[in-house]
Amino acid sequence: MDEKVYGARCKDCGKEMYPAHARCPECGSENLEPLEITGEGKVLTYTDLYALPLDYEQRYLRLAIVELDSGLRATGQLLDEKPKIGKRVKTTVGVVRKSGDRKTHGLQFVPL
Ligand SMILES: [Zn+2]
Repeated sequence: MDEKVYGARCKDCGKEMYPAHARCPECGSENLEPLEITGEGKVLTYTDLYALPLDYEQRYLRLAIVELDSGLRATGQLLDEKPKIGKRVKTTVGVVRKSGDRKTHGLQFVPL
């Protein structure tokens, strides 16, 4: 899979963010560059979301906030049957939503 997921890095203060914003939440600068979200990190917290829009084919989504080794905190789908806070995971990109023929790719985490 060659899909990639991008956040942004502020060229003025170095703040990294995912998802990307139009302005840096730290210093307000609009001088941002794309930042590929990739690497390994640890699960800070996770939750299972059952109240999904009707066009979702999945029964629930397991979402996690992961602190990457770069220090960036990113939210994505956690593909882990036995999730645990503090567990090491790595990023991947996959289908986070299927609705008929439409597929949406997004950030996912898989256990190491
Ligand atoms: Zn900034």
